[in-house]
Amino acid sequence: MPYPCKHSSMNSFNSVALSAGQNIYGFVVSRVVPMPRLRSTAIELIHQGSGARVLHLHNEDAENLFSVTFPTPPPDDTGLPHIMEHCVLAGSKRFPVKDPFFEMVKCSMATFINAMTASDCTMYPVCSNVRQDFFNLAEVYWDAVFHPILAPNTFAREGHHLEFSRKGDLSSDLIIKGIVYNEMKGARSSPDAKVYDAIDKNLWPNTPYGKDSGGDPDVIPQLTYEQFTRYYDDFYHPSNACIFLYGDIATEDHLKFLSQRLAGYSPAASKACLPSQPRWFEPRVKQDVYPVGPGDATEGKTYIVANWLVGNSRDVDEVFAFAALERVLLGNQGAPLRKALIDSKLGQDVSHSGFVASGANETSFHIGLKGSEPDRADAVLKVIMDALGDVADQGVTARQFDAAVQQLAYRFLEIDTNYPLTLLSMAQRMWLAGADPLLWLDADRHLKNLKKRFEDAPRFFSELIDEKLLDNTHRLLLVVRPDGAVQARKDAEFAAKMQSLKQSLSDDRLKQIAASQEELDGELNAPNSPQALATLPQLQVRDLPRKPRHIPTTAETLATGATLLRNDVFANGINYLHVSFDLTGLPVELYPYLSLYAECVRKMGAAGQDYVAMAQRMADYTGGIGFSTALNSRVDESAGLVSQATFSTKFLDDNTDKALEVLRDFIFAVDPRDVARLKDILIQERAYQRMRAANEGMGIALRHAARGFGIDGYLNHITDGVPQIHLYETLAAEANVDGLIARIEAVRDFLLNRRRVTASFTGSAKPLEIVRANLGRWTEQMSDKPVAPGKIDWPAWQIAPREGLAAPMNVAYCTMVMPAPHISSPVAPVLSVGGRLLSLGYVLEEVRFKGTAYGGGCGYSGSSRQFAFHSYRDPWITRTLDVYQRSLEHIRQANWQQSDVDRAIIGTAKEGERPIRPGPATGAALMRHLIGDTPDRRENRHARILATTAIEVRAAMIEQLETNMPQAATCVVSSREKLEQANNETGGTSSLRIEDVLPGGGK
Ligand SMILES: [Zn+2]
Repeated sequence: MPYPCKHSSMNSFNSVALSAGQNIYGFVVSRVVPMPRLRSTAIELIHQGSGARVLHLHNEDAENLFSVTFPTPPPDDTGLPHIMEHCVLAGSKRFPVKDPFFEMVKCSMATFINAMTASDCTMYPVCSNVRQDFFNLAEVYWDAVFHPILAPNTFAREGHHLEFSRKGDLSSDLIIKGIVYNEMKGARSSPDAKVYDAIDKNLWPNTPYGKDSGGDPDVIPQLTYEQFTRYYDDFYHPSNACIFLYGDIATEDHLKFLSQRLAGYSPAASKACLPSQPRWFEPRVKQDVYPVGPGDATEGKTYIVANWLVGNSRDVDEVFAFAALERVLLGNQGAPLRKALIDSKLGQDVSHSGFVASGANETSFHIGLKGSEPDRADAVLKVIMDALGDVADQGVTARQFDAAVQQLAYRFLEIDTNYPLTLLSMAQRMWLAGADPLLWLDADRHLKNLKKRFEDAPRFFSELIDEKLLDNTHRLLLVVRPDGAVQARKDAEFAAKMQSLKQSLSDDRLKQIAASQEELDGELNAPNSPQALATLPQLQVRDLPRKPRHIPTTAETLATGATLLRNDVFANGINYLHVSFDLTGLPVELYPYLSLYAECVRKMGAAGQDYVAMAQRMADYTGGIGFSTALNSRVDESAGLVSQATFSTKFLDDNTDKALEVLRDFIFAVDPRDVARLKDILIQERAYQRMRAANEGMGIALRHAARGFGIDGYLNHITDGVPQIHLYETLAAEANVDGLIARIEAVRDFLLNRRRVTASFTGSAKPLEIVRANLGRWTEQMSDKPVAPGKIDWPAWQIAPREGLAAPMNVAYCTMVMPAPHISSPVAPVLSVGGRLLSLGYVLEEVRFKGTAYGGGCGYSGSSRQFAFHSYRDPWITRTLDVYQRSLEHIRQANWQQSDVDRAIIGTAKEGERPIRPGPATGAALMRHLIGDTPDRRENRHARILATTAIEVRAAMIEQLETNMPQAATCVVSSREKLEQANNETGGTSSLRIEDVLPGGGK
């Protein structure tokens, strides 16, 4: 059985042997299938009364999953399925709280809780390691999904409604507000997302996949409440539901739970229809645009993507063949399609590429280039078609094929962080397609079939390329270019539309809008009543495990003094190795180049072999090699800085020797001297950095705000913040890279000191021996020098800066960071509970529910000695910063009860109760070892968290904010217009000092 699970017990096994035809609690067993590779038994059932379908993957994993999925094809671009998902989780008959989802996030041990709208279905999955908690969560989700209130005001709040820009002022402009409306405006801020939208819209225009299930902000306001409720009746019925269960709870226990809730339903005909896309007889070309600021440079910002509709997701042999072909063509840096595109110099990097089988029906293939020019579309297509033609002519070699199959194995063997969800998504694809839900789960058989096909007919892939790509007329060439005028034009059109709408409305209607704005705000501001909250099933602190879960790790010291950790976690035939180097003493001027060093490890040659050869070896024998850096502090009173650079890889048992050779070559001899290749990498990295403000605005803002707080804040800033964006603008423009090469080599040589090395391994016994022997040899070949801290001067930034970082986007990311006690402080566990309480009880409430931002919160980090506030895809700036400022006042007035604190305790303690999965455990064990986070320390913190009282939390939080709020630093990432508008609203000392993220605003 897959996991070392302390919580499983004998009575969790099915007490009766289930067999086909059996009837239990009104469910008929369709079949029972042993799935040895997944260490599970699959039990498929159908509920006679309602027609609901159930699949249970029963095994010994203590993390149980409950999920209800409905096929929900979008009828249009109003985002109906997405708005439905939000509203369903906004109060139900038995649990009439405004936001049961967030209440359960606060007070359960859920290891996963969410709802997701995909292009053709909506999923409601929850996971927990604690049995009672699991059924509590399932209960709340069940009632939400099948008995939601769906009040008109909920629809207005989550979907869309009209408001006056100044509340109560009927002379002010009419605006549109709504959680989903704002969320989708934010989601569209990034050009990458715009390109994905354009692909879907144009590749299958005649199917639901061509519609926007998330919602196009221009179209969302057309959705009516009547359409909305009709859609619910059509799709949210047990007959239309797929119920997926996973874990060690007995099947009968699930069925008993479900049968009570399915009583009284009768089967209904499914309205879900997923028509196929009629095939084209001629390839198509489409042009689209994405907005950039007026006057921004548009050179080198165009996307060109070739897309094909290739087949059917139920044809599992073809799906596996295409998954392998994707790896052959694009799967490593030297792969023929990828290389041809990069070498063509027609653009900066490959993007939006690969095989996609996420729809229930059809599959597609995509090859794209970003950082190009609109007039290069034909040339790009020619490069793609020529490269495909070459591969088809020459045929796929046995080595390429083996590497591809090796790569695919990870996808099916790996027990990753959300493993039950991975299995859910594979099962449900087929289920929704009306096919066997176990089809994709039997990966072993399909990979064997694929190998046989390739052995029998080595030209098999050539024929696939010919038929499905080269000769396929259902091909779309998409060109998406930046347009500096489109946003202004859209804004003006929108303003005019709202103005004429306002003029068309009677005074009575305007008053009504003002009144309903008042009403919605009133509902938003009213907290859930204690009676409503009391309806929710409540786990008690006494139900929690007394101790956190530990990763079973043993440490040994090699003859050279290096440390090797071995983590005893089941890894399903995959081995995980991290080799970490202490960066103490690294000259501070080299820190900014660590990111480029990481790129070199992924993309350059090594040990006398060029990058194509190294990429091929990496693909042949490993699941990839990565290099990353991390800054932490020791958890003991020393609070010493722990600065690490870590190589990580994974490999299958049989490839251990070869995989370690590749890793060794990168560690000892990564070679940055291929100047042409290095310049390509700089251009790719610049393209990535330019997108970061739009894609990772919150992280950028947090690091920027925290850069004045200690050496770790400063080093984080220069290795991962705005200076990186600037650095690549400079580096990519430089003709001479000699200095750069010298710095990369300096980093490499700095690392090669045996006293810096700690390794962490999870996997099989034989590979462990080989790792130990190699690590011994490697460290022998390294120098043996004392590790001493270097001097790091960091610029003393002005205390309490208020800053704005401007980049093109139509939302904001507002952050505020202040100093806080170290994790070794006795008050630290209390602050983690307090941070959670303030985050979920106040900041989330104000910023998300009242302010309609997509997310918001605050939290205490003991290892970085910070307390930070953040908002995510936020329509506001001043308002949100005011919310942060008022938190002290909120706590003073809040009158927290022990029951409130207990909920926060449960939420905080669950961090220690996460399932232990082999990949993440390898890194976590390493970090715990390095920062001295021993089981004793973890247990003490856990016990302290469980014992937290309301009085302590209040005192600790007031002390924290009173002392440190005056030193807080604020940083907002948003558009220049929004930042300037915020300054106009506040002015004076509250003004944000605005600078552009990209030099000259990217102009
Ligand atoms: Zn959403």
